[in-house]
Amino acid sequence: MKKRQRVTPTTRPVGRVASHFTREGTPKTSYRTQAEAKSAAQLAWTLNGVDLNSYRCDFCHQWHIGKRFRDD
Ligand SMILES: [Zn+2]
Repeated sequence: MKKRQRVTPTTRPVGRVASHFTREGTPKTSYRTQAEAKSAAQLAWTLNGVDLNSYRCDFCHQWHIGKRFRDD
């Protein structure tokens, strides 16, 4: 009987780049400027009523929108 190895999927976001991925593990939409991210957040607010935060990503150095991370 084979021993089942515990393999960590490479697509799974690790802690330090969690800001770059969604909870589903897919990369978030990135924006080149904060202004672009902010207007996308504004659109999400207008369309869906969700309050999103724009932030600079340490992983890709672009901007994403999403819920604020508890890092403060
Ligand atoms: Zn990113």
